[in-house]
Amino acid sequence: MIYGFDIGGTKVAFGVFDERFQPLATSRHATPVRDYAAFLELVTGLVKQADEHFGETGRVGLGFPGVLDASGRILAPNVPAIHGRDLLGDLQQRLMRPLVGDNDANCFLLSEFHGGAVAGSRLALGLTLGTGVGGALVHEGCPINSRRGGCGEFGHGAIGAGLLARHPGLPLFDCGCGRTACLEAYVSGTGLARLYRHYGGAERDGLAIVTAWQQGETEAKRCMDIYVDVLAAGLGALMTQLDPDAVVLGGSLGEAPWLHQVLAERLPGHMMKGIEPAPVRAPVFGGAGGVRGAALLTGRADSSFSSGA
Ligand SMILES: [Zn+2]
Repeated sequence: MIYGFDIGGTKVAFGVFDERFQPLATSRHATPVRDYAAFLELVTGLVKQADEHFGETGRVGLGFPGVLDASGRILAPNVPAIHGRDLLGDLQQRLMRPLVGDNDANCFLLSEFHGGAVAGSRLALGLTLGTGVGGALVHEGCPINSRRGGCGEFGHGAIGAGLLARHPGLPLFDCGCGRTACLEAYVSGTGLARLYRHYGGAERDGLAIVTAWQQGETEAKRCMDIYVDVLAAGLGALMTQLDPDAVVLGGSLGEAPWLHQVLAERLPGHMMKGIEPAPVRAPVFGGAGGVRGAALLTGRADSSFSSGA
């Protein structure tokens, strides 16, 4: 058996897979937001319960929203319970087995490479547009990563000057990373809500703003026009610089069919002259891809963050 965990700020998703990565059981649990002992208890409890049920010692893979520091501790400010903790080491000790883990965007893209939206691509790019922006690259089936695990943080680079020229008065938002005007500060769900408030809209989340736009609301229309332009410019720059064979967008905003349609129209205007944009696809596995990708990590002997294997 193979177990996958997708750790989020509010939910921990758990999945059991057979050796062909077919799902056998899934469940979702509230994240113990600030209690590390309760967090360890939740994960070890689910693994031991599954071991008992299936009568074997399963392999474990974890996806988490963050990177590792030099000493192997997780930096995940959105999940305070595990932030700064040696999560992989502590779990390995309690579960008495090797453990693998990786950034959740890498897990998402790895799952989409194996039988999903970017299957067969030599180089695939994934972006998740949710509360924040996650990024990942998979080359010939392997996530590209560094020792620290920070490769693919495409949300944290400043938006292009051309956008400021096209949209005079575009606010320069501060980003959670400490910099200003990062792509994430505009194209995440949080960024979209901020843009909407700036252009006179009410307090709404990203999906509600999209609905208001589809209903023809003036503030939402102005805001969405800028949102799509910022996203197309950012994605166009990444496509020019990285030249992926295919792109998959995930996250609550990234999976929407309308987005793929408008991006297909706008992307050619943001590419190097003469270069065709790579196809931008919706994920096949949707929100379940993170758990499946975490399970798929266990099949890779070279997993970047394997602990004690
Ligand atoms: Zn940033």
